[in-house]
Amino acid sequence: MDKEKLKDQACRFIDQEKGKIIGWSRAIADKPELGFKETNTAELIGDVFAGLGLPTRTGIAVTGVEGVLEGARSGPGLLFMGEMDAVVNRESSAADPVTGAAHLCGHHLQVGIMLGAALGLIRANARDHLSGRVFFLGTPAEEFIEIEERLRMREEGKIRYLGGKQELVRLGYLKDKHLGVLVHAHSGLSQRKMLFGGRSNGFLAKSIRFQGKPAHAGVSPHEGINALNAACLAILNIHAQRETFREDDKIRVHPIITKGGDVVNVVPYDVRMETYVRGARLEAITDANEKVDRALRAGGDAVGAKVVIQNIPGYLPLIQNPVLSEIARSNALALAGQEGAGAAGFEGGSTDMGDLSYLIPTIQPYSGGIRGNVHAADFEVVDYEAAVIYPAKVMAMTVIDLLFGGAEEAKRVMGGFKPEMTADEYLAFLQKIEKTA
Ligand SMILES: [Zn+2]
Ligand SMILES: [Zn+2]
Repeated sequence: MDKEKLKDQACRFIDQEKGKIIGWSRAIADKPELGFKETNTAELIGDVFAGLGLPTRTGIAVTGVEGVLEGARSGPGLLFMGEMDAVVNRESSAADPVTGAAHLCGHHLQVGIMLGAALGLIRANARDHLSGRVFFLGTPAEEFIEIEERLRMREEGKIRYLGGKQELVRLGYLKDKHLGVLVHAHSGLSQRKMLFGGRSNGFLAKSIRFQGKPAHAGVSPHEGINALNAACLAILNIHAQRETFREDDKIRVHPIITKGGDVVNVVPYDVRMETYVRGARLEAITDANEKVDRALRAGGDAVGAKVVIQNIPGYLPLIQNPVLSEIARSNALALAGQEGAGAAGFEGGSTDMGDLSYLIPTIQPYSGGIRGNVHAADFEVVDYEAAVIYPAKVMAMTVIDLLFGGAEEAKRVMGGFKPEMTADEYLAFLQKIEKTA
């Protein structure tokens, strides 16, 4: 069969079943779950895979669920992801009343896109014309949150790193995956449009403990060491570094105090802080991190408190593969004309897609149909057709482009790709971050 005809058929099946596909996204939004705890979401995805006749595997990096579309001939492995986790924002009307979880990053839409593309490809019998395999993966824990809880999971041996895709690499999951794709919702893009290319920040996370000495806050404060004062000074010290951050490096340091003391009449002696150090380049993150460490220690030195710094590997800056981006973009143009495709800019946020992008050719185009800002209470899906159905079609077409015939297009992307790191180098890099400070 002709490639373009196959694309048309896949899109037609997605259109025919759009109510069902949108229903999957809505069902996930109705039961938001946080990272490594996405059990209901994984069950829904597993049921859909099974219904589509895909061999299914569960429990990948705790909650991940995979369905595999096997092409007629052997060839490259294409990893098509949909992140399953929500964020916490109790101000949102969509928030779970107990956990505060809400799908304000649009990950429920990503899953709908992944499942919609899978449905279109299977119904159109695309497998007969493809070489290689498509691994559809409900991916756990993209949001880097609940740090204390995940550190406890690490102590219990359930995870080693705090992000889902970091865990995928550690577990060797990428061994037979050669290309990675995922579509992410984009703030304030209300119309049917996808954005391609662009960059995003990477970061490392820090957990800091200021240890002082307790004393009666009224009777004998002179006998205490005030850890809260150490933390406050440390924050001011960080502010004093800001003029040294270069504009192009997009450094963001945004600490929070997670524990400010125990009781008001005892000098605070145990104060905890968390922060990210974000930046557009790895070297810039490392440089800013050294300044932040100096600032933290100086806060402790000023009052005689001890400062214990724990560095936790965060995410790498995202490198969108230009060849892969262009293939996806051409399908958006074919489907919706110039209005249907735009260029993404720089994103101040971070994603563990960045980590994958250092290892295999990766893209994360952005989808529309959204009002408001991601992670904010005003985030709202205004057009499910634009948010789920249109990108599902674009990505089903992109899968066909990549793996059709002898998978020449996938091989072209792979041939032009030079990884920034091997998986082993990446894991050694994560371990090195943990050893610093
Ligand atoms: Zn997010
Ligand atoms: Zn997200």
